[in-house]
Amino acid sequence: MNIHEYQAKETLKKFGVAIQEGIVAETPEEAVEAAKKLTEQTGTQWWVIKAQIHAGGRGKGGGVKLAKSLDEVKEIASQIIGMTLVTPQTGPEGKLVRKVLVAQDVYYPGESEPAEFYMSVLLNRSTGRNIIMYSTEGGMDIEEVAEKTPHLIFKEEIDPKVGLMPFQARKIAFNLGLSGKAFKEMTKFVSALYKAYEATDSSLFEINPVLKTSDDRIIAVDAKVNLDDNALFRHPDLAAMRDLNEEDPIEVEADQAGLNYVKLDGNVGCMVNGAGLAMATMDMIKLYGGEPANFLDVGGTADAARVEKAFRIILKDPNVKAILVNIFGGIVRCDRVAQGIVDAYKNIGDIPVPIIVRLQGTNAEEAKKLIDESGLKVLSAVELKEAAEKVKEVLSQVNA
Ligand code: GDP
Ligand code: MN
Repeated sequence: MNIHEYQAKETLKKFGVAIQEGIVAETPEEAVEAAKKLTEQTGTQWWVIKAQIHAGGRGKGGGVKLAKSLDEVKEIASQIIGMTLVTPQTGPEGKLVRKVLVAQDVYYPGESEPAEFYMSVLLNRSTGRNIIMYSTEGGMDIEEVAEKTPHLIFKEEIDPKVGLMPFQARKIAFNLGLSGKAFKEMTKFVSALYKAYEATDSSLFEINPVLKTSDDRIIAVDAKVNLDDNALFRHPDLAAMRDLNEEDPIEVEADQAGLNYVKLDGNVGCMVNGAGLAMATMDMIKLYGGEPANFLDVGGTADAARVEKAFRIILKDPNVKAILVNIFGGIVRCDRVAQGIVDAYKNIGDIPVPIIVRLQGTNAEEAKKLIDESGLKVLSAVELKEAAEKVKEVLSQVNA
């Protein structure tokens, strides 16, 4: 699960990570009130208005702007709230902005120049250990830094037996070229950040930029947090931060029905039991020149009700031109699944796209017979190859 920047910063703050302070607002009037309050609390003279959407690269898309007066706060907030923000991470359709974070300006002039660093905590899956990744080249595209100047990205691996050691935090501060007060602040920042990452069962904390202010404070200016869905039951406070507006509505509905559904860009809807088989089915569709419209794992109990729900969800995607059902009957018997498909078909009424069904495993023959004799517009197959060929054939008719 993803959360907004303002929620991520609240979470960081609870664990003692220094942040750029801000107050969230949903209207331009609230933004002005927020700005006044921030000035009372922090003394800031300028403010940054930041669009709150679940995507990065907002600065580039015009979703992060500096305001130098309360009038400007109001003007910029009314521009950003309600806009459809397109960033390199939203896709061309963009995302509707419903809230802004009014934040204190932290790039104020002073003794030294502000400096932007990059820092993230994540799991290194090949070693099974958490790592802290960091770089002096923060603020901009870290992907570009990784590609063109990989030597500027450092990694510190954490031993789970002992956790983050103080010498590691010092090494990070040293590699970032810091000294004096900024060095000390950075070691505190790193320890608190790591503590927050571990305690929230997160899979990613990415702070870009981590800012060294002109008076040598180290603070998080941006925060991207991915929480591990499987651990959310341990964190009701974090689970409550879920913003369904930011999620694909069909995925939300599927989730509530207990179906593992991920929407994709293609035109062949897939209904499969088991994640591995679902992946293989998608590969097969591609091999035969199709593009999967979704990943859908109906799980172990592919009964009539679930099959029907899965059909309804797949059919919500207007790009779907054919549906491939690929079910392996192990514990669940194929004839039961076939009956489920026939029932679902009748309950839903006229399904406007051709359906190709491949049932394999226990009672596959009976299942094929059931489908073939149902009189419905359903093509059956026993081999996956045969099913994929039928999908191809059906699509070529649709496209003709
Ligand atoms: P992102 O573009 O979605 O990653 O959003 P960020 O929160 O990282 O903000 C984008 C950029 O806005 C930062 O890299 C900064 O250069 C700039 N920015 C953020 N906060 C401030 C601020 O307080 N003052 C000024 N002048 N610029 C800021
Ligand atoms: Mn950023």
